Formats: sequence, C-alpha cells, structure tokens
Amino acid sequence: MNAAERIARAEEELALVFEEIDTREIRLTRKVLDAFREHGVASRHFAPTNGYGYDDIGRDTLAAVWADYFGAEAAIVRPQIASGTAALSAALFGLTLPGDHIVSATGAPYDTLQTVIGTDPDTTPPGSLKAHRVGYTEVPLTEAGGIDLDAVEAAIRPETTLVIAQRSRGYAWRPSLMPETFGPLAEMIHERHPGVLLMVDNCYGEFVRDTEPTHHGADLCVGSLIKNPGGGIAPTGGYMAGKKEAIERISWHLTAPGIGLEVGSYAASWRPFYQGMFMAPHTVAQALKTAILTARVFENLGMETTPPAFEPRADIIQAIRLETGDRLVRFCQGIQMASPVDSMAMPEPWDMPGYADQVVMAAGTFVSGASIELSADGPMRAPFTAYMQGGLTYAHGRVALETALEHMGV
Ligand SMILES: *Cc1c(COP(=O)(O)O)cnc(C)c1O
Repeated sequence: MNAAERIARAEEELALVFEEIDTREIRLTRKVLDAFREHGVASRHFAPTNGYGYDDIGRDTLAAVWADYFGAEAAIVRPQIASGTAALSAALFGLTLPGDHIVSATGAPYDTLQTVIGTDPDTTPPGSLKAHRVGYTEVPLTEAGGIDLDAVEAAIRPETTLVIAQRSRGYAWRPSLMPETFGPLAEMIHERHPGVLLMVDNCYGEFVRDTEPTHHGADLCVGSLIKNPGGGIAPTGGYMAGKKEAIERISWHLTAPGIGLEVGSYAASWRPFYQGMFMAPHTVAQALKTAILTARVFENLGMETTPPAFEPRADIIQAIRLETGDRLVRFCQGIQMASPVDSMAMPEPWDMPGYADQVVMAAGTFVSGASIELSADGPMRAPFTAYMQGGLTYAHGRVALETALEHMGV
C-alpha cells in the first residue's frame, strides 16, 4: 500500500468518528452564535482604541461573550497577555499572597510553569512564586491517569488557597482529562475547603468537547489565544474565564490594584478575536480530524498512539511512538515540507535550553508559534515519540500526512 492508499483506508475506517466531530462542530457553533447574539456583537465592537482604553466596548464585549461560552461569571481576553504561560502566571500571582500554598492535582505541570512556581531549587528564578513565599505540593495522577481525590485532599493545608490542574497531556504520555473529570474535584474542594479555588490549565482543550471545566465547577479556566480558542485567526493573547472574584483579583495583578479591567487599549482591530472565536469550533474540528487520521494511519503501520484513533479526545494533541530517530526526524521534515510557510526549512535535531535530549521541531505557521496551526515535534530519545497538533484545514493535515509518509518511505 502506498501513502495515499493508507490514508484512504484510514479515512474509510474513521467515517463515524468524523461524523461525530462534524455534529459537535454544529452544536458548538450554535453556542458561539448564541453568545454573540446575546451581547449584540456588531461591527462597532471591532473598532481599535488607544491610550487608557476606558470604556473600550470591543474589549469588554469580547470578555462578556467569552464568559458566556465558558459558563463563567467573568473573563479576561486580551492581546496584552503574551502567551499561555503568561496567562497562567498572571492567574497564579493574582490569586496568591505570601504564605499561601498551592496544590497541583495533576502531577507535574507543563514545563514552562515549573519556573513560574519555582519547583527546582537550582533553577528557581528570583521572581518565582517560591521566591514570593508561596508554597507548593504536587499530587501525581493515579496509575490509571485519573485525579487522586483522597491524595489531593490530604495535600490541602490550612494555608492552601489554590488547587491547580492541567487538562491536556502536554508532552507527557498520559491521558488528557475530560472537562467533567474536574466535577468531583471541584465538589470536594468547595464542600470541604470553602475559600480554596480550582484553576484549570485549559490549553489545547477549548472547543474539543461540548463543555469546558468551568461548566463542571472549576473556578477558573486559563489558556492561550494562539491555540484552540483563537481559531487560527487571533494574532496573539491569552484568556481567563471564571468566578467574578477570581477574575477581579487577577485583573489587579495584570494592570494595577484598584484599576483592574478599566484600562487596556488595542490599537489594531478586535475583529480577529471575535472572528477567531467564531471559527474555533470549525478550526478545532479540522485539527481533531488531522490528529485522528494520523493516529489511525500509524496504528495500521503497527505503532502505538495516544490517544488511539477511536478513543474520545479531551484535547488536540496526538502522540505517536515512531520507535526510531530516523522516523521521527523524517516525520517532522515531511510536515515542514508541506507547510504553507517556511516549506524550504529542513528541521534537524538540536540542543534546546532546558531539555536533556536534542529536540526536532516542525512548524510553518502564519502566526508565529501558533500550535492550532499544524506542527510536530519530539525529543530524540526512545521511544522517539512525535507530538503533533493543529491544522487549520483537514485538507492541509491530510496533504501533510501524505508528504510525511512518503518522506518516511512508508
Ligand atoms: C501550551 C501550553 C502551555 C503554555 O502556553 P504557551 O503559550 O506555550 O506559553 C501551558 N500548558 C499547557 C498544557 C500547554 O499546552
């Protein structure tokens, strides 16, 4: 079988899975339209502002629409938040004071948060939470990949004010968590430890399921606008959605205590943020289909994937154990060759600061670093796992997969 035939076969096998994704896209699009209609989104909301941005109706309406979609009381959706890490960091600093204590309910958090928290005494930067005397305890997931409610509860101290959890697998070989998984955790926290907040790192999970963690009791969802919820259109930014009290405290950290969300202008149009949210159910569906097709093709070639093609998904990340370094490099090179931007670049493994092994990366995106656009990478160590995510169109994902398979010689 050649690459085209392998893809055609996988596509046939996946017909029902793809149909389910299409019907979810319709449901989520309806939800987005409901929120837009509720707040009367109109072209005047796209107008740029400058200076302090007092009464910026585009900014405030965007936040209101966002809060509605997330089933939250309030939201912050801003281009000034530089990245997902910046959003998570702002939320962590906004919600803690010296002497407070944080519990992570899903084991080690995403790499970039380790320096925010200050988990490693050797590399703890001066401005970390630890340096601000905020304590931290990590509770690993259970063997089966679930949240260990008893262990989380045991880790909560009188000075604990925040429990954090990560929805996506990130770059670990563990299952991603469904939004409803956070329900029992939220219930335990709210019933037994009133005053403690539950914050979910929602990166890569938005618009994948019918609900978000905030619909199941999480006090806060945080993420990046150049991942799922920006729909491939938002040029930069981050968001937080959740309880009014939590959003207000974070707003004081973001601008200034006492000023909060009253200021913040944007001299370009707000249109890409609205349009990106409108596109998000579609774009995420395209990325999911790309991930599932890739999983199925490699499963048929005898390789292990997580999640497997036919398993329900909580995020857009696909991991594939390619088993050899040559396959991993060639897979990434194939993805790069089929990218709309920088197709002439040839990825090679290289040393990256903070990583023990060399890393190979493929990304040729319109928005720099946007991982809702098709990208792939992996560390050069056994079992040579490729992590891939994104895809603005399924057609692009399909073409890129075929290119990668041909470049790999399978
Ligand atoms: C991407 C990601 C982040 C950090 O976002 P950046 O925009 O890369 O800073 C944090 N947590 C998870 C789970 C992510 O996937």
